[in-house]
Formats: sequence, structure tokens, C-alpha cells
Amino acid sequence: MPPKARNQPNYYRASLGLKDQIAPAVASDYHSPLVDWMRANGHRLDIANLSFRLAKEFGFCYGVDKAVDMAYEARAKFPDSRIILTYEIIHNPRVNARLREMGIEFLSGSLKSGLSLRDIGPEDVVLLPAFGVSSPELERLRATGCVLVDTTCGSVVHVWKRVERYARDGFTSLVHGKALHAETIATVSQAQKRGGHSIVVRDREQAQVVCDVITGRRPPEDVLAFGEPSFSKDFDPARHLEKIGVANQTTMLASESLEIARMVGAALEERWGREALPEHFRSFDTICSATQERQDAIVELVESGELDMMLIVGGYNSSNTGHLLEIASRHVPSYHICDSGEMLSAGRIRHKPLGAKEPVETEGWLPAADKPLTAGITAGASTPNRAIGETIERLLAIRGIPFDPAELTAS
Ligand code: SF4
Repeated sequence: MPPKARNQPNYYRASLGLKDQIAPAVASDYHSPLVDWMRANGHRLDIANLSFRLAKEFGFCYGVDKAVDMAYEARAKFPDSRIILTYEIIHNPRVNARLREMGIEFLSGSLKSGLSLRDIGPEDVVLLPAFGVSSPELERLRATGCVLVDTTCGSVVHVWKRVERYARDGFTSLVHGKALHAETIATVSQAQKRGGHSIVVRDREQAQVVCDVITGRRPPEDVLAFGEPSFSKDFDPARHLEKIGVANQTTMLASESLEIARMVGAALEERWGREALPEHFRSFDTICSATQERQDAIVELVESGELDMMLIVGGYNSSNTGHLLEIASRHVPSYHICDSGEMLSAGRIRHKPLGAKEPVETEGWLPAADKPLTAGITAGASTPNRAIGETIERLLAIRGIPFDPAELTAS
């Protein structure tokens, strides 16, 4: 675990004390006066025959706000030092590209600069991303003597504490998440730190396999088909599914996480009996409040019956954005785009459909320009408001509707 002291000379876990200094740069890079105006005016904008409805909760969450601020503060505090990010600070290409423009180097991911851990020394400043790093990686970084600026979100640390406790009490941590997602890798490393075991389940289908093994309807080996990254070392499904504590990646679909916890609890009750259940089952909903609020807000919007389509803006590798798409697409045609440039024309859009690995191009996504259109809009927790404002302006432009945001926001 990180040290208890909030900020020590070579370890920063909270603001570096330069928030006022960096605020103008952060605002200029990511804020949107148009989005601020909509927020203050009923979350709607109606121009000619095009209407927008903005979700009540959208965009940057408290964890992302903090991580971005700390990265800008680190740049301001250590102007002459090499600053290295272990991975993307959050799952948004615009934010990561901006940090690279500010001279911050990346150790891994699509922006990696070729540096390795061996190149890092006490004179370097290393930024840890909002979803944290695994426990062994943190130890290796500490050993370099570098200055650590740890932006790990408090809600992620909260999950770590939960799975650590499961491990201490002899429970296997069953994590609803994506086994290769940086946050889940970090979380299971906490469960495994003192020899504890973990299993990651991606969805209800995998949870059902685990439940069937617990109740004896399937052989234990069936669980191993999930593949290596889903298990702790030496995981034995015949022994390590007897006592289970459920947790989840903070950005999963809340309804699915709750259902998985219920399924596992029911299977353990069937196996061990109701009275013995507390000795075999623990569960704690670790979906963060920001994820929950964004999911609740999109449900409200798509169930309003007002929308012809939904636009969801966010990085294509953003888990929470993908879940917003999952909710919306049950109700209206929905498009997950990483930015406004994906709306190629009135006839063509590039977007990432539900369950797809890569974006695709779709024709005929907009009704004819003379037909009224009401578009819902929201954004994942790592998407800056500026990307939302640009999406609105782009849609107006490709429908041929003149619009000057400066006139609106000045009124
Ligand atoms: S989505 Fe939740 S856990 Fe992730 S950074 Fe935001 S507040 Fe923290």
C-alpha cells in the first residue's frame, strides 16, 4: 500500500500545492463554455430543427480531475526534470497527447517513448495513473529512488483495501472486471500481495461457469478456460472457490456487478448451506459513485422517450464509456465516438459498436436535414467537456445549421 503520509519529499499522493497556478491551463485545454452554458440552462440546446439533450452527469469524474491536475502540477513543480508516466494517465487520447506535448514521456502504451524501468533514477519524476499500478511495479519504481507522483483515484484504493482484507481473511477475491485492464491488474495484485488468490470474471456468462463449478454442476477445470491472466498463480479451482469475496472494477456496469454478486452468493449458499454462508461469502459493491451517477443519468435520458439517437463521447479503450453505450443502445440508435472528427459527414460516421474491438464506419446514420432530430449526448468519465462541445458544434455544422457558440454564451 502507499505510505500513509499524504505528501513526503519524494512521494506525492495529493495536490502538489500548485492548483491555482495550473487552473488556467487546464481550463483552456479541456473546458467548454458551450457545455457550461447547457449545464446552466436545463442541459438542452435547441437550434432550428436540431435539439440536444445533455445527460445530467457526464465527463470528467473527481478521480480524473485530480489526476489531470496532479500531472499539470508536477510539470509546473519540476520544470527541469524528466517526467515519466507509467501508462496512459486516463483512457483519453486527447489528454494523453497533451501530456506528451508538455514533455511527459510514457513508459508503456501506444505513446511509449522507448524508456524502460532500468533508465529511471532518483532525478526522475514518475507519475502513476488514475487507475494505479500493480504492487510489484510500485515496488520496482520505489527501488529506483525516483520522485513518485501517485494520482491513483481514492475509489480504486478503496477496492484495494477491500480485496486485501479478503486475502487476509483467507477469501479468494472474485473481481468482476476485465483481466487486462490496468485497474484490475492493480487490484488483483493487491489481493495476491500476501499469497492470496484471485479470479477475474468478465461477465454473467463467466460468473455462471464459476457458480456451476461451486455447485458441482461442472468440473473445476472448466474455470481454467478463462485463460491465464484471469487467475492468481497456482490457482486451484477445486480449493480456491470455497471462500469468495466479490469486488469489481470501479467502472463496470453496476447492474451486472450486483447480479454477479447475487449469483455467487446463491451458489455458495447451495454448496454450504445458509447458516455457513458468512464463512464462505462476502461481497462489497465497489462501483465508484461517478460511474454509478453517469450510468443513472444515461438511463434517465434514454428512457425519456425524447431521443432519436444518442452520442457517447470517450476513448475507445475506456471501460466506463463502453458501458454507457451498452445502456443507451438498448433504447435508441447509439454511437460511441472518440471525438467530433469521427462524424465524417452527414452520411458517414466512424464509431465503435457494442462489443466490437475496433471502430467501424456506418453509412446513413443521420436522418435527412429537413427532418427534426433530437440527439442525446454524454461522455465517459475520462472525456473533457471540450470534446462534448466540439461534438455539438460538428453536428450542427454537418446539418448546415449556422451556429456561433460565442453569441450563445455571451447572452
Ligand atoms: S471512474 Fe471512478 S474510480 Fe475511475 S477515476 Fe473516476 S472516480 Fe475514480
